[in-house]
Amino acid sequence: MRRPFIAGNWKMNLGVEAAGILATNLAKACKDIRDVDIAVAPTEVCLTTVIQALSESGIHVASQNHYPAVKGAYTGEVSPVMLREAGCAYALVGHSERRTLFGETNTQVQQKVLAAFDAGLLPILCIGETLDEREAGNAESVVQEQLLTAIQSLDAAQVSSITIAYEPVWAIGTGKTASPAEAQSMHAFIRGLLRERYPSFVAEDIRIQYGGSVKPHNAQELLSQPDIDGALVGGASLTVDSFVGILTAVSKG
Ligand code: PEP
Repeated sequence: MRRPFIAGNWKMNLGVEAAGILATNLAKACKDIRDVDIAVAPTEVCLTTVIQALSESGIHVASQNHYPAVKGAYTGEVSPVMLREAGCAYALVGHSERRTLFGETNTQVQQKVLAAFDAGLLPILCIGETLDEREAGNAESVVQEQLLTAIQSLDAAQVSSITIAYEPVWAIGTGKTASPAEAQSMHAFIRGLLRERYPSFVAEDIRIQYGGSVKPHNAQELLSQPDIDGALVGGASLTVDSFVGILTAVSKG
């Protein structure tokens, strides 16, 4: 049985004060949810405040991005080693906004996945097709290329420990959700790719989150699909009510 994993991506939305308040309120609101792994990804300047506010809560913290080097002359970047030292447990890698707005390639995503592992961070690897790619019938091939490039240098145990976030780009921040059947079909395809290439424990253990306009009202149906093990949540992770609404829809109590 894979334990559900719900992660909130706060993107560039909350400053230190607002992030601290949200983290403090989440810690209180989530104290009885014990059957779901939870993480939030604040901006870098909020990490210390959020990590402190969540320190007794069991809620993990993820970084949103990192540069694949330990340290050096990379003005404006942050190292995964520094993020680990600050208290992050997970690292978002390859979010579609990084790919589309900042031109991140599959090869750069692969380097970031490796650097995260080297630093002791568990990657949450984001993959997903655009609307044009889906309409051209290329959704599976795009997702396959993104996935297999990103994990090509990892051993089986490492692959099984990452989280994959399947996020169709056309569903992110748009209010359009993939139907449970569409999402399940891509999740099954992703798990099948792993089953063909790695020992069976990899496909059995790896958690595949769905991301794209997940809200309290649709979380339960999406998460009840056999290959959907959690969610990466953007907009609905920015308030306690909506994020906890998703968590309680998923938790078995
Ligand atoms: C995301 O940015 O990863 C995301 C899924 O956003 P939203 O939930 O707002 O669609």
